[in-house]
Amino acid sequence: MNIIDMTISGLHAALKSKQLSSVEATKAMLERIETVEPQVGSFITVTADHALECAATADLRIASGRMDMLTGIPLAVKDIFLTEGIRTTCGSRILENFIPPYSATSYQNLRDSGAVLLGKLNQDEFAMGSSNESSAFGVCRNPWDTTRIPGGSSGGSAAAIAARQAIATLGTDTGGSIRQPASHCGCVGLKPTYGRVSRYGVIAYASSLDQVGPLTRDVTDNAIMLSALAGYDPKDSTSVDEPVPDYVSELAGGIKGLKIGLPKEYFIAGLDPDVQKTMDAVIETYRRLGAEFVEISLPHTDYAVATYYLIATAEASSNLARYDGVRFGHRAKEAAGLLDMYTKSRSEGFGAEVKRRIMLGTYALSSGYYDAYYVKAQKARTLIMNDFIKAFESVDVMLTPVAPTPAFKIGEKVNDPLQMYLSDIFTIPVNLAGTCAMSLPAGFSADGLPIGVQLIGKPFGEEVILRAGYAFEQATEWHKATAAL
Ligand code: GLN
Repeated sequence: MNIIDMTISGLHAALKSKQLSSVEATKAMLERIETVEPQVGSFITVTADHALECAATADLRIASGRMDMLTGIPLAVKDIFLTEGIRTTCGSRILENFIPPYSATSYQNLRDSGAVLLGKLNQDEFAMGSSNESSAFGVCRNPWDTTRIPGGSSGGSAAAIAARQAIATLGTDTGGSIRQPASHCGCVGLKPTYGRVSRYGVIAYASSLDQVGPLTRDVTDNAIMLSALAGYDPKDSTSVDEPVPDYVSELAGGIKGLKIGLPKEYFIAGLDPDVQKTMDAVIETYRRLGAEFVEISLPHTDYAVATYYLIATAEASSNLARYDGVRFGHRAKEAAGLLDMYTKSRSEGFGAEVKRRIMLGTYALSSGYYDAYYVKAQKARTLIMNDFIKAFESVDVMLTPVAPTPAFKIGEKVNDPLQMYLSDIFTIPVNLAGTCAMSLPAGFSADGLPIGVQLIGKPFGEEVILRAGYAFEQATEWHKATAAL
């Protein structure tokens, strides 16, 4: 098998049996990146020299018998993760030359297991977007059809896997940013429960919603990645000190008797026919595997997008106040005094979508509007969260579409923010509720575009959705399809 086609588990076995070295695997990935990058644009920074150094160290570690599942595996991470000594832009001009002095815990955990960093991946600016089109560092294209978006905001993280430029990647998900691109690019993407993975050193967008998670070729790899990422971190006060299950050994448990809820509000008229067809086929497969289906209701679903765009923008306006040109980031050259320096630095550094969000959020938090918008949104969030708690009394997991349509054309929605915001209608409620969910490759549109389905789990029930995903994967071939690129 070609190195670039391998999974983590496959490459691990090849490294362990000394069929391959990590340096060989890393070289193969770097060559692949060089060949297809002009057509895809998944990377903002390729760290070739660093990758080869990591790989040489990993080979020594393998030789000495201290091998971990990720030792020597070439990975890449979204450019939102602070990587000590390696440029981190978050897709923004304002951080174009920013070299962080420390690393994110999640990234550090991968490195501590001996993983190799190939580079930093393209994304929407400050993770705001659903198409990767708000990146300040160029277009990222969907490897299945390069006239289309890869999804966003972790567009590079999904495209890099589909283009076989990395074995697995790391993304973040505030309202769908792991699951939606995973669905559009045909990979497995998991958003863990809020608090499951440390957010320390992840550039903040909306702190009460942001969560780190893996994008991979198959469910087994996702479980391997999550095992390396999950757990309490004293540096993140919102990370939760809950025991971490052995996600890999739990995979094969089967799903006989599993109760799957179908929330009726998610099966709306106007759902793309290809997405609907995929859902129907998936339900059929799960029935065959012994699952039981129950219709459930999440009655406040209609309020989710509005609630999200008040809470996320309010938190963003506060989080992004730190980019003032004083301590780090872009500083305007010619300014008449401090206020002018702040204004010019921010005007020059931020792109249009980020400015729109800051204005929306600042407005929602301003005196006179705070109660009408921000407080109201918090109340709606509680209702949405309660919907999930109530529904999970009668089911083990929920099954829904990930996105209302397959990947759309580049440019199709850039001038219509409302249409863009509606791309996340099925993923946003999960972040508001704080629970976990996964996107799983489940079929193709008539045009040959990948379509994913979403499995939503109970808080800290990642092992249950992984097991359900694994059972589906064992019974189907979708995850084996590769883009022709
Ligand atoms: N598309 C949503 C937004 O623009 C979600 C982004 C995300 O999950 N980071 O806010």
